[in-house]
Amino acid sequence: MRADLARREPFWLARWKETGLYTRMLAREGRPRFVFHDGPPYANGHMHYGHILNNALKDFVTRSQTALGKTVKFVPGWDCHGLPIELNVERAMQREGLEPTPSLVRSRCREEALRWVDVQRTERARLGVLGTWDQPYLTMDPSYEAAVIQALRAFVSHGLVYRGRKPVQWCWHCRTALAEAEVEYADDHVSPSVYVKFPLDDASAKAVRQASGSTASRLVALIWTTTPWTLPANLAVAYHPGRAYTVLEAGADEGWLVARALVDAVCAATGIANARTSIDLSGAVLSGLMARHPFEDRAAPLLPADYVEMDTGTGLVHTAPGHGRDDYKTGQANGLEAYAPIDDDGRYDGTLGAGAVAMGLGGMDVWDANPVVERALSDRGLLANAPGRTVTHKYPICWRCKHPLITRATVQWFIALDEGMKDGRTLRAAALAEIDRLADDGDRATANGQAAGWVPAWGRGRIRGMIEARPDWCISRQRAWGVPIPAVHCSTCGKSVITEALLDHVAGVFAVRGADAWYGDDPTVLPETIVCPACGERPSKDFTRDDGIIDVWFESGSSFLAVAGRDPELGLPVDLYLEGSDQHRGWFHASLLVGCAVRGQAPFRTVVTHGFVCDEHGRAYSKSDVRRRQEARRDAIVDAVKSSGGWPQALRAVESAWTAPDKLAEVQKLLRTKSVDDVAMTVAQADLPYIPPEDVIRELGAEMFRAWAASVDFESDVPYSRKHLDQAVEAYRKLRNTFRFLLGALRGDPAPEPTDVALEALDRWALARLGQLQSACRSHYDRYAFRAVSAALLDYAQEISSLYLDASKDWLYNDPGASPRRTSARAAFQHIARSLAVIAAPILPFTAEDVWDHLPGFAGKSDSVHLAPWPAEVPLEDVAGLTLAMQRLRGVRDKVNAALEPLVGAWGVEKQAAKKAGREPGSGDKVFAEDVRIDHARDASVTLTLPAAEITELGTLGQKLEEILGVGALSVVAGDSAVIVRRAPSVACDRCWRRRRDVGSLGLCARCDEAVRVHPSGQVGT
Ligand SMILES: [Zn+2]
Ligand SMILES: [Zn+2]
Ligand SMILES: [Zn+2]
Repeated sequence: MRADLARREPFWLARWKETGLYTRMLAREGRPRFVFHDGPPYANGHMHYGHILNNALKDFVTRSQTALGKTVKFVPGWDCHGLPIELNVERAMQREGLEPTPSLVRSRCREEALRWVDVQRTERARLGVLGTWDQPYLTMDPSYEAAVIQALRAFVSHGLVYRGRKPVQWCWHCRTALAEAEVEYADDHVSPSVYVKFPLDDASAKAVRQASGSTASRLVALIWTTTPWTLPANLAVAYHPGRAYTVLEAGADEGWLVARALVDAVCAATGIANARTSIDLSGAVLSGLMARHPFEDRAAPLLPADYVEMDTGTGLVHTAPGHGRDDYKTGQANGLEAYAPIDDDGRYDGTLGAGAVAMGLGGMDVWDANPVVERALSDRGLLANAPGRTVTHKYPICWRCKHPLITRATVQWFIALDEGMKDGRTLRAAALAEIDRLADDGDRATANGQAAGWVPAWGRGRIRGMIEARPDWCISRQRAWGVPIPAVHCSTCGKSVITEALLDHVAGVFAVRGADAWYGDDPTVLPETIVCPACGERPSKDFTRDDGIIDVWFESGSSFLAVAGRDPELGLPVDLYLEGSDQHRGWFHASLLVGCAVRGQAPFRTVVTHGFVCDEHGRAYSKSDVRRRQEARRDAIVDAVKSSGGWPQALRAVESAWTAPDKLAEVQKLLRTKSVDDVAMTVAQADLPYIPPEDVIRELGAEMFRAWAASVDFESDVPYSRKHLDQAVEAYRKLRNTFRFLLGALRGDPAPEPTDVALEALDRWALARLGQLQSACRSHYDRYAFRAVSAALLDYAQEISSLYLDASKDWLYNDPGASPRRTSARAAFQHIARSLAVIAAPILPFTAEDVWDHLPGFAGKSDSVHLAPWPAEVPLEDVAGLTLAMQRLRGVRDKVNAALEPLVGAWGVEKQAAKKAGREPGSGDKVFAEDVRIDHARDASVTLTLPAAEITELGTLGQKLEEILGVGALSVVAGDSAVIVRRAPSVACDRCWRRRRDVGSLGLCARCDEAVRVHPSGQVGT
């Protein structure tokens, strides 16, 4: 066994490929099936650390379930459609001066996706991940695209698909609506903070005066907003019907209608001191009040809304139904349209009101509009706080381009969450019921020491909260690279049509020709006639095709149907989905909804999630995240250089590692040829490096990443750094050393089976412990507790190394070949080595195969460890007695060591080793020593006094203790604990160096004499 994994792993990968290992693993008959479905990673960019963790865990599952006797066909997949690839292609085409027609964009995107599929396929397979790599599933495959249409058909058949104008999250940088899962949040977004007066009309002002007793001549409803750009779209002011409101006397004969609970906050924000308020006004008083829009010639009615909160603002909420989900609901309930005068580029369009146009907002983008609106309000005396105030808050940003999003009503296709399906349940209710059913399965499994449902269990609450709160599913996107929305629009009346008959036809076409067929004007893509709900049945040429595509999350959410649902070797429901915990709102979420529509149930039995890989400070550790931090540091250095004027000060200010004199000299040298920005970036990159995983694999081998992934608590976020990797490597080395020792001792003749020989007590103990390890690891693997497997393997390796392997060394190497205890040890060693290899193989497939290669042959040995069955336990008796005897033996060993320690010259080394292992010997025993000149423990003759009961227990070992402990002689007598050390009187054997009474004239002890006679070449002592 050699250590250069990085160089040797490709050799095993090639061999497994050549010998068709995985095909042979799958071909074994009579095994139950474990359906494990790959969540498709996005085919863009190189593998990062998150992928490493994800792929390693997935392969642990495939290999361990296989080792436990199942057939696991893992079909890796890729998510190929979508915005990131399309944006890259669009940019490239722009550079090349090409016109981005849908068909050209699509063919370029396909090439781009395939290129990355190839890159990632190589990278994933390099980790040793088993799978049908030559037959993956791609979401851009024709059969997959057809399955997406069939999934959509299920929603149509339930009557859940509709077209409507509703607010969605919109990125005007990417010019598209975004799915919930594509929205990220920035914690430090700065928005304007404006308090705006909506004057009450005369009748409403009179009513408020009467109810409140206020005498202010001017009464306004005061609202607070952080998006002044949405004020042109204001259609109402919402209040909470169950809360108390009041008139706040704001001076200058003006009264502000605000919530009682927020009076202090409003005063603080607007600088009002000694505020007086009226008596409380109930919601009933506010009902029916009318305010005037601050700059448009229209009313803004006060409308009740339960969602109005009393922790920020004024308790009155500016309502623009085209720019907010809650606003939209209020608008729906009160017959207001979803008015949003903003185009795809985030600019005001031709539907903007006259007042806003007069302010100069026409054609302006929304961020530019904010200060203009604020200034205009201030000029008109309608701003209640000082202009220019801001608030820093959490704000949605685009997952792709990181630009802040706007909420904007657009015409889109939606799936209704709250309409009845065929069975009467709503999609939301069905999905929630499935979440709970899985959680119940999980509870039952946990009680039985297994894992099912949501693992870890908090996943249930997370996905439940998301399903409970989510709006209707916006499934259309205004892009080209995806599966087209298979809807048509009537050229005569403009009505949109999406029917089962239409989808059946389109799915049939896509299955053969792919979704590209939709683009262009081939009439056969549509059925000959289509029924328009207004015009009746008409030829399909009277309809135009929808130019949107389906949300990519809908696509990936249909993967169970496209992959497991179609392959007779898989099937539904899938046993396991395993992805990062962000997929509660991504893939798990979409799959659950599609599953409920298509099959009335979740497509999975168990959902395991893992955390994100972060750096040792808990920050996201991906190339782009590190790049952002490097840029921030570069900017900080540049700023500090400018303000302090000196590099030493600047580098100290950012706590750079470059403040040492030699580094500062290097900076000066760099500055001769490079700009300040570039040098600052060089420093930032050195301070905050990102080492791509490929580099680590080239250095240490993929096995070390696997060892790391198996050593972490993957349910939480997982820290990664070179230090963390080194710890895993250290643990790995201990295990590998145990393997090396076992293999070294087994070199030569085949070893007998443990069931065929009379096993010595020590060997029976080691095999008993192995049996416990086997059953523990079987259950750990079944619960996906890979960390427990690696810990158990390491514990066992350390446990047998500390006494058992050491002790056995003597008779393994020195006894005559046929000695019963040597035979027994070889049988045990073989069984231990092959069992450990099989148990470790799912985690460490390369190392385990290496061990297997080096193991001497035995009956039924397969040509790969990955074809070996789970090890059988050796039937043993009196395991409890052996365990107790070993405990006593360790106690005796510690006592003897403690006594010898101060006397033995050579002891120093072993003492250090003992200290390292954390077992500091030392007991209160009295030590009597004579003739202290001892070179080695084997020169000592020890008399040990022990309680009689312990002596009996030790007797279970049935072997001379001095041989196990490696001392020259040992006698045990009953009595109070004491240790007496003398120099062993007898002569040392030239071969085994043990002091024995039977050393003859040739300088050999009797057994060595026999051993040499049997094997004249002799086995040389260690
Ligand atoms: Zn974007
Ligand atoms: Zn029509
Ligand atoms: Zn000897």
